[in-house]
Amino acid sequence: MLGIFDTRKSKIFVTFINNNSYCSFMDRFLKPLMHKEDRVVAYLSMEIGIDRNMPTYSGGLGILAGDTIKAFADLKVPAVAVSLLYDKGYFYQKINENGEQVEQPVEWNKDDFMKPLPELITIKIEGREVKVRAWEYVVTGAKGYTVPIFFLDTNIEQNSEIDRGITSHLYGGDTRYRLCQEIVLGIGGVRILEKLGFSNLNKYHMNEGHASLLAVELLKRFNKEDEVRKHCVFTTHTPVPAGHDRFEVELVKRVLPEFPFHIRNILDQEGKVNMTLLGLHFSRYINGVAKKHGEISRDMFPGYPIDSITNGVHSHTWTSDSFKKLFEKHIPGWSVDSFSLRYALGISKEEIWNAHADAKKKLIDYVNSHHNIGMDYHHFTIGFARRATAYKRPELLFHDIERLKRIAQHAGKIQIIYAGKAHPGDYQGKETIKKIVNLCKHLTSQGIKTVYLENYNMYVAQLMTAGVDIWLNTPMRPHEASGTSGMKACHNGVPSLSVLDGWWLEGHIENVTGWSIGPMPTKDENVDNNADAADMYEKLEKTIVPLYYNNRDRWVGVMRHAISNNASFFNTHRMVHQYVLNAYFH
Ligand SMILES: *Cc1c(COP(=O)(O)O)cnc(C)c1O
Repeated sequence: MLGIFDTRKSKIFVTFINNNSYCSFMDRFLKPLMHKEDRVVAYLSMEIGIDRNMPTYSGGLGILAGDTIKAFADLKVPAVAVSLLYDKGYFYQKINENGEQVEQPVEWNKDDFMKPLPELITIKIEGREVKVRAWEYVVTGAKGYTVPIFFLDTNIEQNSEIDRGITSHLYGGDTRYRLCQEIVLGIGGVRILEKLGFSNLNKYHMNEGHASLLAVELLKRFNKEDEVRKHCVFTTHTPVPAGHDRFEVELVKRVLPEFPFHIRNILDQEGKVNMTLLGLHFSRYINGVAKKHGEISRDMFPGYPIDSITNGVHSHTWTSDSFKKLFEKHIPGWSVDSFSLRYALGISKEEIWNAHADAKKKLIDYVNSHHNIGMDYHHFTIGFARRATAYKRPELLFHDIERLKRIAQHAGKIQIIYAGKAHPGDYQGKETIKKIVNLCKHLTSQGIKTVYLENYNMYVAQLMTAGVDIWLNTPMRPHEASGTSGMKACHNGVPSLSVLDGWWLEGHIENVTGWSIGPMPTKDENVDNNADAADMYEKLEKTIVPLYYNNRDRWVGVMRHAISNNASFFNTHRMVHQYVLNAYFH
């Protein structure tokens, strides 16, 4: 098993990155080795957020995929990854004067980041032969090992106009469009890897049900369901039944007639083809993304052996420059070994505070330059940013505005920074944004400076999770599968104030790593906005704001524990270790 991790010592170079380009000897010499036959893990995801300048992701799922691949590269896990190339990205979010989200296509130049490969494969979609090519993006790990990501693209001259658009938009279009994309990802993914010469792939990891059709393609190769199962790993991310991808049988028959309808377990109770059930059926290793989410998934899909591997974030990506410098000084090698962040407990409180002040200044400067609101470096700053959707309850902080005002008057000054996109089809989410943007203006007029930043993306997320004083999270329990933004925050010594759900059930120690809101989750959904809001206000007023202003020593103690207890664990190095041991080589 360990042999799998040996990188080749020989100096035979494979020029595979671009067959067309001339590679000088030095060029090849400097390029880290990649032997296709060594690669054993294929990781497929509908979105991958790997570079903050590439709009190939929408949010948490894609960034998790990117952070996972970065950890593969750091840890020399012999993997390759596949996703789709979105010409028009997800969308660029503007917020107009009425507080409404306006979606604009993202303009970007893919050839600045990746190279097209000459190989083409063909897939039959709706009876048409659709050509697919791959663009290669190379992720280089902390020790120089590389993991390629192949972004699949149907925007090729030989294809009809309609097929050229299949890979244009992330999460755009109707269910037919989505199904076509999933065919390109799953079926196209397996075929392109074969075409590119990855002949020893042993595990195919489906990151959520969007990639499940890969099992259909593998079934053609292996013939036996059990044989496919040995090669498949499935990760589910959604604790709500409605969140799972489903397609009408009629649609699937029309678009992908070869689909194996005879397998009964993959239709749900309404007779629809359910991509989660498909992934579950064909995978020997299945996991949820936090302990609690594993439990919920086992209840939701009885009979399947569902494990859990708690999510993480890529430490080097999500640590601000000032903390990077600090860790470099006190914990040399931390970026190739995220576990070593536990030693942050030995860093002086003064240095922690100063590193935070730097990150906070960057954020406040950004806010002030975009909003002319005059936020203060020294005021207690609350951050909230995530996809604007009902279960995240972004409006909970505004549940009782008078109460919030009293806290700001008596316990200490407060300022608030919000951000988040709503899915273009989520009417309710867009309404929520509008409501919050208007509440921001109202609160600001009442003396609590509050902004809603436009176009939440990896860049804004980096600034915010590092620069605020507390990271607020208020989902309706138990709907948060894991959540990862709080993990980004803890890498920067920013404690969470959060509902006990997802990862926070594992990361929370009251007054040590942060603070909880409301009770433990029960089996059934329990939504008591009044009780949760009251608890949140109570903690802010009696504990958190006073601690921030009056007891710097203890406050920084909490910041430091957020790093040593939580960043050292909730990172993708630890997570990938678990995937390797439990899922890939098992
Ligand atoms: C981290 C991140 C998310 C996911 O955050 P959650 O806490 O899991 O909701 C979404 N969008 C962006 C841009 C992020 O950086």
